[in-house]
Amino acid sequence: MTHNHDWLDTEITALEHAGLRRHLRTVMGAPTGTINLDGRDVVLLGSNNYLGLSTHPEVIAAAVEATQTFGTGASGSRLISGNSEPYTTLEKNLAKAKNTEAALVFSSGYTANTGVIPILAGEGDLILSDALNHASIIDGCRLSRATKKVYRHCDVEHLKDLLSESATFRRRLIVTDGVFSMDGDIAPLPDIYDLAAEYGAMLLVDDAHGFGVLGRDGSGTVAHFGLATENIIQMGTLSKAIGALGGYIAGSRALVDLLINKARGFIFTTGLPPATLAAANAALSVIRSSPELRQRLFSHAKCLKTTLTDLGYTLLPSDTQILPVVLGNPQRATSIADALFAEGVFAPPIRPPAVPPDTSRLRLTVMATHTETEIQQAIDAFATVAQSSVDLYR
Ligand SMILES: *Cc1c(COP(=O)(O)O)cnc(C)c1O
Repeated sequence: MTHNHDWLDTEITALEHAGLRRHLRTVMGAPTGTINLDGRDVVLLGSNNYLGLSTHPEVIAAAVEATQTFGTGASGSRLISGNSEPYTTLEKNLAKAKNTEAALVFSSGYTANTGVIPILAGEGDLILSDALNHASIIDGCRLSRATKKVYRHCDVEHLKDLLSESATFRRRLIVTDGVFSMDGDIAPLPDIYDLAAEYGAMLLVDDAHGFGVLGRDGSGTVAHFGLATENIIQMGTLSKAIGALGGYIAGSRALVDLLINKARGFIFTTGLPPATLAAANAALSVIRSSPELRQRLFSHAKCLKTTLTDLGYTLLPSDTQILPVVLGNPQRATSIADALFAEGVFAPPIRPPAVPPDTSRLRLTVMATHTETEIQQAIDAFATVAQSSVDLYR
């Protein structure tokens, strides 16, 4: 019997026709303001290294030192032999930054969400999830086997309606991004917090894009709103503003204990490399002590947002360093991205399933370490593309 794999080509061709085929690009060098991508130097408007910490000298030094002390790999899962000392330091400092009793690091933000949600909710429970939540939340909900209801994006009234019909469920969990990854807007957390209290629901906030950027000392979206942290479970990632790799859950000691005992995404995988943990820990101190990085980040974001709007691009009303330029169908997003690339700017096109149909976009992100010259180069490229392809944007 022969194995027939023709369907693979058929599927790829279908993606191609729909404008949804994805390709890997190769980056030479570190994620700084200008990178070499596929052999071409371009201004990078598609990095989550918002504060430039992945190349910060103190962060790199910490990673090198940890490698020399602990070696390159963890050599085991955390519950066996992979729980290196840098985990302890990092988790203590994460809990401090998040103002919680405890914190637990996972191998990525993806595994943190898919690990924690099935612990918080299961069969007989209800999860209420924002329509634009990150894919890792969606997958965590699927794994949990709880009933899931999706409320309209940031629509507190809709959330309230769903909560008011939820009395038959054992437990209720509300889950939302703090800063939405593809739109850059901030969840109405104070209202959601009040509803959670009113209906006795748990609240999980995914702060992948808020930490390092929002709130006092960059502590994130919950701090930005000044909410009490006892009743919020804060998830985050070490992979974005922190510039390393990993995810975490910050909350009560009891929650962390339960996760250590039961979360499959925590238990059944190898620990992170000590260098990664030490880098993240060094990045935490830089974040705390460098408000000027946040100021530069927001000043770049504001400048780019205002100028692109003046050029006629349609930007979503983001309040953060994430600036979505909405273009509609996937082909249009790709062709504008290609035109910008030819002008020396990398602005990644984002298409379904990462965003809803007909909202394909360029997801621009700025970094505190962009120079004024690089921001200007980016603006010039957008101006040239706007002139040469009037019919390609709306
Ligand atoms: C990136 C992201 C994650 C996943 O984090 P990783 O560390 O990259 O796995 C989870 N949630 C949101 C909102 C994200 O943007």
